This record gives sequence, structure tokens and C-alpha cells, in this order.
Amino acid sequence: MPDLWLPGAEVHDLGDHAPTDQQYPPKAIAHITWDRNATAAAPQDWCTFDSLVSYFTNGGASAAPHIIWDPFSGRIAQLYPANSRSKSVVDSPGGTRTNRAGRVVIQVEAVFFPYCRYQGRVYPRLVDTPCAGWDRLHAWISSWGVSDVWPMGRPVDFTSRRNEQTWETRGGWYAHAHIPENDHQDPGSWPDFTTAPTPAPPPSEEDPLAAFTEADLRRFIREEVTSQQVRDTIAYAVDFRMGPQADARAAAAPGALLDAPMPDYALLPGGYRPTVGESINGAKTAGAQIAGLSAAVSALAQQVAAGGPVDVDALVARIEQAISSVTVHLTTTSKENS
Ligand SMILES: [Zn+2]
Repeated sequence: MPDLWLPGAEVHDLGDHAPTDQQYPPKAIAHITWDRNATAAAPQDWCTFDSLVSYFTNGGASAAPHIIWDPFSGRIAQLYPANSRSKSVVDSPGGTRTNRAGRVVIQVEAVFFPYCRYQGRVYPRLVDTPCAGWDRLHAWISSWGVSDVWPMGRPVDFTSRRNEQTWETRGGWYAHAHIPENDHQDPGSWPDFTTAPTPAPPPSEEDPLAAFTEADLRRFIREEVTSQQVRDTIAYAVDFRMGPQADARAAAAPGALLDAPMPDYALLPGGYRPTVGESINGAKTAGAQIAGLSAAVSALAQQVAAGGPVDVDALVARIEQAISSVTVHLTTTSKENS
């Protein structure tokens, strides 16, 4: 068993230990203490590590984490052993157990708020600090099988994204901003995992489905196939080809059809929603690039098969010709269609 207490941590055992939910994979939750609302224009003095330890071991014990971490000095205090739940996130009655849904759910409060002033310098983000002590903190959390992934994305701002099913079923790191039943948006940033390799978990823990019953799996599949995205996709495909508007579309000016927006599931990176025409042309362009590449490869193969010296200029000319003929053909086809 890994160490229940992080080696070298300043231990302030709160007692009040309670087990976590062993059927779910191991997790860690990242917080900042966000003691003050400072801004770039009005920075405020950092709250000290000792003041936070005093808070969480007294009046703030009902929201205490496992770990209080000073990213400037590297000091670490520990209030609960790794195998107990801690209390830094809200857990509403019913639904998932936010403080407990994992073989471990290790919560870390970095003593930090945006634009805190420490020894005369202002720090906008946690990752701008030295992050002293992160390596050993990360190594200890990894030793409990918490993998180096952010199932809801690595925090890079204070955007909330919450999904109870993802939270409950996927192991790894979560921002407080990713925890269901909660409204806090911290920590805004977090150091990366490039140090300290993750120890491999025992083989029995590697199968992500091992913890689920057949009933769980049936429920997941049912939820997946009835998800809005899948229903949208099927509805769109059926309607596009056979729906009552299909004839009307065909009769309408083809341009009107091509100008129709694709459904939500077709959103491109950045949230851009292409039209049907753009989507078709995108597919054609990709096809042209593949055809051009294929022509280039066959030109090269012929040249080599002929056994003579490779004439690079001639080869490039043949490849360009192959690509341009494909492109011209597509442009013509596209015009005929529109
Ligand atoms: Zn928090």
C-alpha cells in the first residue's frame, strides 16, 4: 500500500476519517484557496500558508481538503489520510458522492488567489508561481493510482464544465470547476505532469470496465445511444434523405440547399457551423488531397520501377500535374452540381 501520509508533510490529522467509494477509479481534485478577489489593477497580499492551515484545522474544518500546498515555499500540510474522504467540495443529497466517488479522492488546496502579491511580485496564475513542491506532491498522488489525465480538460481558465457520468466513471484529475453539484470555478490553472513518471497500477485496475456490473454497462450504453447527439445525427440523416422536406429541398434552388446550416453535431473547432455546401466541399477537398497524394505515390513508384535514375524535376512536375488535374476535375464537378 502506498503511504497514507505524504512523506515530509506537516500532519494535522483531523480525525473524522471516512471511506471512499471503492467501485470507482482513483481521482484528485485541484483547488486554489481564492482567499481574496484581487485584480491586475488592484493586487492584494498573499494569504500565508500558516493562516490557511489554521483556518482548515479550526473554523474551516467542514470544508477541509487532504492537502494544503504552498506553491511558493513547497510546504505541504496534510489533514486526512489518502484513503479517507475529505470535504472541500459540496456534496448534495442524492446523485454522485463528490467527496467520495473513487478508490481515493485526494483534494489539494493550493494557497493561492489570482493577482496575489508575494514578496513584492504579483502572480496572475498558479502556474506563474514556482510551484515548489509540486513534484513530490504529484508523485505521491500518482502512487495512489491517480492517472495523469484531465477527463474534463486541464484547467486553463475559470470555465466550468460538469458532467456527472464522466466524473463518476473516469479516473484522473479534476478541477473544482469540473465537479458536479458545485458552483466554484477554481483553480484556473494547474502545473503539468511532465515530472515524476506515474507508477503502473496493478493489472486488475487497468481494465476500466472491471469496476462495473453488467447492469451498469447496459445503463451506460442505453444512455449513450439515447444521447441528444446520436438522436440528432440519426434524425438529420433520415430527414435529409427521406423526410417530408427532402422533395422540397430537391425542388428548391440547389444553392438554397447548399446554404442550409449543418446541425449542431457538425460544429467545427471554434464553434463554427458550416453550411451543407461547405461541408460537402470540405469532404471533396480532403478527397482531392488524398487522390493527389495517391497519384504522387504511383508516379514515384513508376519512376522507381522503371529502374532509371530518379529525375526529381520531372517527378515534381508529374505530381503537380496529377494534383492539378484532380483539382480542376473537382472544381468542374462542383460547378456542375451547384
Ligand atoms: Zn475549490
